[in-house]
Amino acid sequence: MRAPGASTRSIHHGQSFAPDTGTVMPPVFPSSTYAHGNLEGFDYTRSGNPNFRILESVLASIEDCKYATVFGSGVSAITAIVATLKAGDLVLCEENLYGCTVRLFEQVFKKFGVNTKWVDFTDSSSLDVITKERPTMIWLESPTNPLLKVINISRICDVANAHKIPVVVDNTFCTALLQRPLEAGATLSLTSTTKYINGHSDALGGAVCTNNSTWHKNMIFAQKSLGLQPSPFDCWLITRGVKTLSLRLERQVVNATALADQLAMHDSVNWVRYPFRADHPQQSLAKSQMKAGGAIITASLKGDINQTYSFCKSLKFFTMAESLGGVESLICHPATMTHASVPSEVKVLLGITDSVVRFSIGCEDLEDLNNDLHKALNQL
Ligand SMILES: *Cc1c(COP(=O)(O)O)cnc(C)c1O
Repeated sequence: MRAPGASTRSIHHGQSFAPDTGTVMPPVFPSSTYAHGNLEGFDYTRSGNPNFRILESVLASIEDCKYATVFGSGVSAITAIVATLKAGDLVLCEENLYGCTVRLFEQVFKKFGVNTKWVDFTDSSSLDVITKERPTMIWLESPTNPLLKVINISRICDVANAHKIPVVVDNTFCTALLQRPLEAGATLSLTSTTKYINGHSDALGGAVCTNNSTWHKNMIFAQKSLGLQPSPFDCWLITRGVKTLSLRLERQVVNATALADQLAMHDSVNWVRYPFRADHPQQSLAKSQMKAGGAIITASLKGDINQTYSFCKSLKFFTMAESLGGVESLICHPATMTHASVPSEVKVLLGITDSVVRFSIGCEDLEDLNNDLHKALNQL
């Protein structure tokens, strides 16, 4: 018999920890502590809670892996992994990582002697760097933020695995429904569940998935010893959110695919970046590695910093805000928001000019989003 699909598994999470009540949805277990000797082995919520376990079982199930560990945010999940390293270790990182990941490496863990080296993983010479430097760990995300560079995960994992170097893939932009880092050979697949997994912009969370039991023990240890655990209520919200992940993504991908093409045809747009478009530099890799192009679009507008900012503010159905992955559409102007503190020459090197905008496409009616964008573009 066929195993249930990911949509089914995200809805039928199994264990509710309240078997006598017939409850269809699991309750929230806010208790900080548990009577010693209980059947499920709970003792204190920092080291485990029924709501963590329920969410962990759903996330492991949709990722088709043995273990998932939940944390209070994506950054907590990143902290849990990096805190397994020691002074003198080297992390080989993709140069285009999420800003908070860069800050954590450069402004926090560097003080404890954890070193980083930054490479462009779309450049095949980066594979030689793995062999030459023999880093302790490799860190990447794909597609990258905000320019949606697509990185060949399995090619990097093949080289890394030959040298027994663990590879961490931040899979936040795709989730397990669109991209499978563990199947490509990664040791750890990390997600900020704040984004698509929860999908409603009302809770923060993070998770690390793996098939490696030693890494799982490391993550459980980090959850309790570093105090990185989530709140039971946030886990409950995220467990509710993930039930509609495949439905939401389906709509978001349809909307994003159409809007990327619409934007590209407009006279006020210089270029559009979307992984599944024919003009994306790694379209064929994206199509082999991802089940769909996702719901993030990056574009460059024919406008200066003020005109681009006004464009963002003039949209009705796209709130100008950081974050992504919710049912509501958002627009981000990296030059004045996420990358405001980055020196302008570095921004130019990264390709983040004043006219670049990043859209997180939501579940609204396509026609409304399209009309909204056209109206604002025509005024540019
Ligand atoms: C948002 C995000 C994170 C951090 O997650 P938080 O839940 O905000 O701590 C990490 N990586 C990526 C790619 C993200 O988009």
